[in-house]
Amino acid sequence: MTVDAFRALLSNTDLFVYERSVDENDGTVAALVRRDLEKLLAVAGKQAETFAGTEEKGLKLCPLTNENARALMQLFPYTKPRSHKGHRFTMGFGDRLGLASPGHIRAIGDHDIYPVLAQQSIRELNLTHRTFADVISAAAFNVFQEGYRKGYGADGDHLKTKDEIKYALESGCTMVTLDCSEQIDQQAVTYPQDQIDALYAQLPADVRAHYEGVYLDRELPIIGCLSAPELRRIVIVFWKGIRHAIECYRYIDEIKTVAVDFELSIDETLTITTPAEHFVVGNELHDAGVTPISCAPHFSGAFEKGIEYAGDLNAFARDFVVHQQIADHFGYKLSLHSGSDKFAVFSTVGRVTKGHVHVKTAGTSWLEAMRVVAEADPDLYRKAHKFAIEHRPEAEKYYHVSTDPNTIPNIDLENDAYLPEYMNLPAARQTVHIAYGLLLDQPWFRDAFFATMAAHEEAYYAALVRHLGKHVRILTAGTDV
Ligand code: ZN
Repeated sequence: MTVDAFRALLSNTDLFVYERSVDENDGTVAALVRRDLEKLLAVAGKQAETFAGTEEKGLKLCPLTNENARALMQLFPYTKPRSHKGHRFTMGFGDRLGLASPGHIRAIGDHDIYPVLAQQSIRELNLTHRTFADVISAAAFNVFQEGYRKGYGADGDHLKTKDEIKYALESGCTMVTLDCSEQIDQQAVTYPQDQIDALYAQLPADVRAHYEGVYLDRELPIIGCLSAPELRRIVIVFWKGIRHAIECYRYIDEIKTVAVDFELSIDETLTITTPAEHFVVGNELHDAGVTPISCAPHFSGAFEKGIEYAGDLNAFARDFVVHQQIADHFGYKLSLHSGSDKFAVFSTVGRVTKGHVHVKTAGTSWLEAMRVVAEADPDLYRKAHKFAIEHRPEAEKYYHVSTDPNTIPNIDLENDAYLPEYMNLPAARQTVHIAYGLLLDQPWFRDAFFATMAAHEEAYYAALVRHLGKHVRILTAGTDV
């Protein structure tokens, strides 16, 4: 089968063809197509038998299932996620809907950014009833639709246990973001020193001897000298988390079948990560032979979902410089989580890291989808908006947000033309942001929402280019990315 013969077959059908997708390998040609609002893979040639679908006018038309995604990744390896080792600027674009990647790819434009297009946490999977395989398949089909051949990653985000790691890697994830928050003693940061000392005295003698031998009575790079009380507190807070990280890293090494990028996240803690804490964690991993690709400390200031950074920007910049020195010392990148909409810190992040960094975004792409709904189907938006306000207490169980929903202008007093403006108001943004799981669970919303998105996909891509493109522009300005 040649591409020309394949196109001739397609022209005999009523299918809309995504032109950029058409590609050939080993005598097999495929394209992403659409009939009404349903997307399908059209395949013809030698390897068409590896796809499941129905024959029509010499073509095989295949639904976008996980099975057909695997066949597609086999046929066109660029649709399969890969490790991002060697890429300086990497960016996570979480896509809870499986619809956003074409917009994300276009938002990158000509910048030298390696996108992690499949990025979901277990919490996000649970709230959307998706599996890692579903997430990766959606990214693969979107990459194919867009004709994007430069590669992308798949991040099992905020994984906490070996079982979760196994699940992610077996599903095809190429990155593990390990979240040690359950092993970190978060409360210990606030304990009085005598309580810390008492807890420390109960630790196994070899653990104490190890830490004292490595960190006391010497000048450490970047952070200088650590006092004994300071070290004891760091050990009490972090030693179990460090042990867990080392164990999980070795476990990944044991079970992985392809290169895996390992990120350590200590961002979901109650307090900000001090340089001394970051140094000890980084040094322990390094001494144990663990080589993370990136590490996410808890930076100063508030990084709440879907809204701008809140905090002292000068303090952030001072801290960030030191964290960057520590990351450089150990040879990994800093990773910025909840990076959606944090425009105020992006200049600093780009400049200090020189574009050698990982930045994660996620929920903001869902909000852009809701902006499209507000424009295309005002009645659906109104209903969803009211539902989100009503159910905010329930949604707050999953996400910490601080805006006051009582400050959201009453939607009954606003005309349709105003509705997209809600997606510019912090309180409305957060309220709609955290309601995604609850909303997608409502049949009245889910069906109408996906139909609207399918009918307005180009509008969605344009919104993502505008919004994520702004992220990219500010993050990369002044770097050679
Ligand atoms: Zn995080």
